[in-house]
Amino acid sequence: MDKTQLGMNGDILSSLRPYALDDYIGQIEVKQKLKIAIQAAKMRNEPLDHILFAGPPGLGKTTLAFVIAREMGTNIYVTSGPVLERQGDIAAVLSSLNDGDVLFIDEIHRINKTVEEIFYSALEDYKVDVMIGKGPTARSIRIGLRPFTLIGATTRSGLLSSPLRNRFGMILELQFYSIDELVQIVRRACGILKISIEDSAAQLIAERSRGTPRIALRLLRRTRDVATVKGRSSIDSLLVQKTMDILEIDELGLDEVDRRILRTIIEVYDGGPVGLESLAATLNIEADTLKEVHEPYLLQKGLIVRTSRGRVATDLVYSHLGYSSRIRGGLFDGSLRESEEYQNQD
Ligand code: ADP
Repeated sequence: MDKTQLGMNGDILSSLRPYALDDYIGQIEVKQKLKIAIQAAKMRNEPLDHILFAGPPGLGKTTLAFVIAREMGTNIYVTSGPVLERQGDIAAVLSSLNDGDVLFIDEIHRINKTVEEIFYSALEDYKVDVMIGKGPTARSIRIGLRPFTLIGATTRSGLLSSPLRNRFGMILELQFYSIDELVQIVRRACGILKISIEDSAAQLIAERSRGTPRIALRLLRRTRDVATVKGRSSIDSLLVQKTMDILEIDELGLDEVDRRILRTIIEVYDGGPVGLESLAATLNIEADTLKEVHEPYLLQKGLIVRTSRGRVATDLVYSHLGYSSRIRGGLFDGSLRESEEYQNQD
């Protein structure tokens, strides 16, 4: 497991990470709740209650965990659900924590059942019972822990078992960011990277970022590459547009994979409804990736809707991708697509 020293990791991404709550842009409600909880814990000289962050990738869950550790003045240890395979692994991690330390577990919904059970008493009573040996000679030993804070991050809070879920004092759902917030994030990053950027260029990057800081920063870095190659010292909107064309990112921020998902729903499944598993199999994408990475933004933008019978493409997709609308009247009637428009697609 990594013992992560704050700010020691010198790569670009970590230098762009805000470390104080006041530098963390957006997620106003989440920040408000955290501010009170942090202040109260400090006043009582107690560790912060366990926190679960839920939301799609790239919205700032890990960043918030680092911010919290920094605000509490404690160490943060970083690990992830799938890495913790055996009870012994987690017992070793937990027993190395000091008073008030933060243990951050990414993808916490992916820890296995036996490891999860260890957490019940660890989170509630700061104790773990570990089985030593096997068969008739097996015995359980109890290890006392220092009071610590678990911060879990998950893209699928629904997959957490309720005994584990219930042991978090706060469950905070992160939301997609507004364009204004993403503009601020891009401008802040440009300040740190010492690049000058025009307002219209920052706006354009924000608009194509699917409400997600990680994507905004990635698009900024790619645009910076194009600027470097072209020998420009400043980023304008033409340069951003050029980068978007190279990356094939359209006005809604959709990339080629998103468009392939939408086209498949329309062309193979007559606009839906189609079940997640069937869609994933047709696209040759893992169902979890489809659900956790691609679908949330498509749903948020109203490009698809989830019905009890599966995913359905909305009229917005038809107009956005240049298909003629399907027959109105029956939502699941199938689509009408003119062959000419179809050819224009590819
Ligand atoms: P997650 O853990 O939810 O996948 P991260 O915390 O790793 O997301 O954030 C992804 C990237 O976006 C990081 O490089 C981080 O610096 C940046 N980021 C996320 N949220 C913010 C924010 N509110 N303000 C500024 N940068 C942010």
